[in-house]
Amino acid sequence: MPEEKVYDILIIGGGPAGVTAAVYAARAGHSALILEKMLVGGEVVSTERLDNFPGFPDGITGPEFGQLLDRQLQRFKIPVESVLVERVSLTGELKKVFTVTGEFAGRTVIVATGTVPSLLNVPGEAELKGRGVSYCATCDAAFFRGKDIAVVGGGDAALEEAIFLAGFARKLYLLHRRDAFRGVKVLQEKLLALPNVEVLWNSTVQRMEGEKLLTGLQILREGVRENLSVQGVFVYVGRIPNTEFLRGQAELTETGYVIANEKTETSLPGVYAAGDVRVKELRQVITAAADGAIAATMAGRLLHGL
Ligand code: NAP
Repeated sequence: MPEEKVYDILIIGGGPAGVTAAVYAARAGHSALILEKMLVGGEVVSTERLDNFPGFPDGITGPEFGQLLDRQLQRFKIPVESVLVERVSLTGELKKVFTVTGEFAGRTVIVATGTVPSLLNVPGEAELKGRGVSYCATCDAAFFRGKDIAVVGGGDAALEEAIFLAGFARKLYLLHRRDAFRGVKVLQEKLLALPNVEVLWNSTVQRMEGEKLLTGLQILREGVRENLSVQGVFVYVGRIPNTEFLRGQAELTETGYVIANEKTETSLPGVYAAGDVRVKELRQVITAAADGAIAATMAGRLLHGL
């Protein structure tokens, strides 16, 4: 049996936090491995546009940003395993990460697994997913060219993606459960200036309808039941952290975020949490990258016994 390789730093998640951690680890001379279930770049790859990351004066698309992250990993020769982490054992000195295809060992672990979209959990949603119900405008916008669609939510994601989707749709309804947006003013102003956008305030989706494809939404608007005829609905009602595999190991909040301090230290020695998965005030690509840098630096200090 070949001896199991023990990495200095095992990084779970290949988004901006994980990639930054890997680059910092490599530059400090530590061996690092990224375990990523999908594409390098993580969730940012499904963002239409990144406009607030310094150094990109004209903005950059999510997929392009993801490719640049990938190129940076290649330059530093950082290995990436495409695997889904199922289980971890992080309490001992040697940390173990178990996947379908095998197990990996590290002296330290950085959890940078981000979040996934929240569901509305209404009848019809699960059945019509991919048949008119979407959580990714970048992926699916082109299917709705010239069609009537709805976007649900009132945060930055809903506003930003609605602005993008309005460029494809004939008519776009933005359904928000309150009478004021949570998203930033600049996005609100951009959205409200679009001629084909109608905001339905105090509106919630009760049911998604359609046999094979979505044909409409049953909504409650100002307390009154209505039917909205749309061929697509994009749901942006917040996110859920990817931390199922950590249950019973690191301390989590009630909603599943990893409890970690500003040094990204979790409740377990040698285990750090970076990016959207950590409890924090501001979840952005820039704060995820900052966390990655801090986590790799803290892991490095521990490895050097500092
Ligand atoms: P969010 O800020 O948590 O907003 C979620 C929205 O969905 C809120 O308006 C919320 O309504 C609504 N909502 C939640 N549950 C709902 C339900 N069951 N039914 C109907 N509506 C529901 O989430 P997000 O927009 O995904 O953003 C997540 C984080 O990423 C934020 O920190 C955001 O700033 C950041 N982000 C930033 C950018 C950017 O800077 N350009 C872009 C995207 C995301 P209430 O307002 O009533 O709570």
